[in-house]
Amino acid sequence: MKIKLKPFDSLISFFYPRLCPACSSILQHHERVICLDCQLHLPETDFHEVDNKQLEHVFAGRVEVAKVASLFSYKKGNRIQKLLHNLKYNGQYELGVFLGEYYGKILAQQSWISSIDLILPIPLHPKKEKQRGYNQSEAIVRGLSQATGIPYRTDILLRTTHTGTQTKKSRFSRWENVKEVFCISDPERIHEQRVIICDDVLTTGATMEAAVHKVQEAKSGEVFVIALATTQG
Ligand SMILES: [Zn+2]
Repeated sequence: MKIKLKPFDSLISFFYPRLCPACSSILQHHERVICLDCQLHLPETDFHEVDNKQLEHVFAGRVEVAKVASLFSYKKGNRIQKLLHNLKYNGQYELGVFLGEYYGKILAQQSWISSIDLILPIPLHPKKEKQRGYNQSEAIVRGLSQATGIPYRTDILLRTTHTGTQTKKSRFSRWENVKEVFCISDPERIHEQRVIICDDVLTTGATMEAAVHKVQEAKSGEVFVIALATTQG
């Protein structure tokens, strides 16, 4: 087979090589967003394919959810932490779509997924979204939707107030901080609908808990929680 050379592309990639956002190695032509080696060594959990009690435990006694699933383990310095950092802070929207699609292909093989009516991303405050240019959870949900065929909406679950960084606050003050930050623009649209709420990372679950409450206040059907990655486990 003859390989068609693209001199202009080669020149561009010589001066501006595309780098893998997880390990910074130069991407080859056939590597779409991350390098093959990183793709083969992404830190997957088994929280997406079993009825895992460990993740469901996060919401026990707090809010009722039908299922909690997450694909990757999020740890300081691991590939997923680097990828999500690039997604959030380096403008790499396509990376979110890629990861969402990757997860969506796995979810599409599970029987429960066919019963879902709608996917809702956890929204960013509009001010933050303007600074970042996009909502990283929306990028992930776009990929999930492409792979599963389930529609998503970004204009139903909305954020109401600006919340500061959550990392240094206690669980209680985080809850105080987030419990009224969401609202539902169109309760009719999710009435009796089986809904996935999706976030990039599941940590204490406080943000997700607040979102689930709001969706259930609108008398949705069962609520499923999905995070691309989790710090649990
Ligand atoms: Zn890599």
